[in-house]
This record gives sequence, C-alpha cells and structure tokens, in this order.
Amino acid sequence: MEWCVSMPKVELHAHLNGSIRDSTLLDLTEGLIGTGVIDISEVEHIIKKYNRSVAEVFKLFDLIHILTTDHNTVTRITKEVWLLGCHVVEDFASDNVVYLELRTTPKRNDSAGMSKRSYVEAVLKGLRSITSVDVDFIPHCADSKSLFTPLPGIGHVRKRIYVRLLLSIDRRETAEAAMETVKLALEMKPFGVIGIDLSGHPCIGDWTTYLPALKFAREQGLYVTLHCGEVPNSKEIKNMLDFRPQRIGHACHLEDEHWRQLKSSKIPVEICLTSNIRTLTIRSIHVHHFELYTKIYPGIHLKNIFSEPDDLVDAGDLYKAKHPIVLCTDDSGVFSTSLSKEYKFAADSFGRFHFTFAASNLN
Ligand code: 5GP
Repeated sequence: MEWCVSMPKVELHAHLNGSIRDSTLLDLTEGLIGTGVIDISEVEHIIKKYNRSVAEVFKLFDLIHILTTDHNTVTRITKEVWLLGCHVVEDFASDNVVYLELRTTPKRNDSAGMSKRSYVEAVLKGLRSITSVDVDFIPHCADSKSLFTPLPGIGHVRKRIYVRLLLSIDRRETAEAAMETVKLALEMKPFGVIGIDLSGHPCIGDWTTYLPALKFAREQGLYVTLHCGEVPNSKEIKNMLDFRPQRIGHACHLEDEHWRQLKSSKIPVEICLTSNIRTLTIRSIHVHHFELYTKIYPGIHLKNIFSEPDDLVDAGDLYKAKHPIVLCTDDSGVFSTSLSKEYKFAADSFGRFHFTFAASNLN
C-alpha cells in the first residue's frame, strides 16, 4: 500500500458531495433534528449502510442535497470537507494527490435564496478558507515546477495540491438549467472552473436534452466529460461516443461496436473500480473492463465467462489495449475509498502494471 500512497497521483473523477464522510453527514443530519426538514430515523440506516446499490446511492445523494440547501451549509460542507469533517482535500493531499479535479452540481434553492451562482461562490469560499494545505485553484498563476517540491515547514512538510472544478449537469435538470450551468462555468473560468460533467441517475432523463448546452460548452472552450454506459443503453452510448467528449466516466456496459469505437477514438476513460463493484454496476472485478482476464485467477478460462470468446478482441480490456485510462475514486465518502486504495485494488486484482495518465489532457 505504501508505494500507492507515496506515488504522486492525479484524481480526475471526484464528486464533491460524494466525498463527504458518513460521520459528517450524520453530524449535519443531527443538526436538522426538530426542524421538520428530515426524520433522522428514516435516513440513519442509509447513511450507515456499507454496501449500497445504485438506487440506494442516489437515495443518499437526495439526502445530501437536502442537507446542502443553504449557503452556510454549502460553505461549511466545502470547508469542513477540507478542514474539519471530511478533510477531502487534505485527504487527497496526504494521499499524495497533486492534481485534483473536483466536480459538483450547482444547485438552486429559491426558498433558501440560493442560486447556482451563489452555490458555486460558496464552494469557492470553502476552497479559499483552507489553511492546512497549500491549494492552488486559480489557473495560470502557479509555478508548475514547484508542484513536486515540498515546502519546508516547522517539523513537517506542507502539502501542495492543484484543484480545478468541473460543474456538473444533473440528468434531472431541464435544458435551460443545463445552459445556465454552462454559462456559469464560463464566468467562473478565472476561478478554476475548467469544464462540464454530465452525471446524475443514469436511468433518468434523456442526455440529448443537454446536447445544446454541451455543444455550447465545447464551442466556448470548456472541456466536457460524460458519465457514459453506467447502465446498458446502446443508443445513448453510441451517441455519446459520437459526440467525442474529452473524457468519459465508467464505461461499464459498452457493446462490441462501442468498444471498437471507443478504442479508435482514444477517448480517455475515468475508471472507478470500487464504485463499480460496490454498486454492482460490474458484477465482479474479474470481469472489469480495466482488464478482463485477471492474473490472480489464472485457472479461469475466458470461455467460462464469455459465451463468444472470439469477440474478445472487441471487448473492454482497456489496459491491455493501451487505451488511455485513469483510476479515480468517484465518491470517496460514499464508497469509503481513497485514490491509493484504488491503485492497490487495481494492482492486487490485475497484477503489476504501469500507469499512464493520458487523461491529463483536461489540464
Ligand atoms: P454533487 O454534484 O452534489 O457535488 O455530488 C453528488 C452528485 O454527483 C449526485 O447527486 C449525482 O448527481 C452525481 N454522482 C455522484 N456519483 C455518481 C455516479 O457514480 N454516477 C452518476 N451518474 N452520478 C453520480
């Protein structure tokens, strides 16, 4: 595990509110006792549950969104994520993550006087208030050489981490709301917003609703990454690949023609092993598209797993195909993981491998 921790790493797929620790969630939930907003007996078991299905994960996100309805809470969560409760950035920094792309869905809540803009401002306020690690979140003002040079401190070395933001469009939103998010991202570019993500429950909505906003984002120079193929949906997957986003996340349920298209397009894939296994999006690590045939089970023949082994040349197996991939946490709080744990998981499951960060083209 040590080598996984000591290696400088980049994290490109981390949802802000998915990175909140269970303990902080419980703390926030308790803060709402008696307000009538939430019945703790109804949500406690969801927060405390270890293995959550996709449906339960999204139920948890609904709860998180209730907890993040006012500016103070958003700022507090963002700040606490770093400073007190979740220590997300500190955790990533102490895990030797040197470059972090954090994504979050700007939320509007009229009753709390919160707009998408003030949500993002609150997130930025949280980032600014971090003092325990050096955080660079304004582009073009850092000396990139110093990234790997530890700063001397009194008795310890201060960590330094570059953070960039992606604004997410939730698949429950309207086309207008998505466009508002893209315009906000453009305005916020000077403050470290570099791109747009499409996420949210994969069985909800039609991604074409967001095509005008996504196209506009791309025309205006924002990077676009899409959650793609989390559930089987052949037409959507093909159309998403045709769109040629800068990256895609997950890519679990691609079919042969999709694998061919993905590999020839060289679109980098954000791989979230623990997330895929914990939500049962992939039924076993041994058939994960990172590498289909795992070395720790040499006795298992592919014929026993796939009905048509001749088609394997078109299957996942992204590592062997030298496809650009990057290991990511997805929701480190929800799935109790870290980037080092993801590297360890990959090494234990697939044997020794070299890492290539072709996906860093978003920088
Ligand atoms: P937030 O955007 O509120 O900071 O982070 C939580 C949100 O990210 C969730 O409500 C959901 O929309 C999105 N999200 C987090 N994890 C996943 C995932 O594994 N798949 C998809 N499709 N969306 C996710």
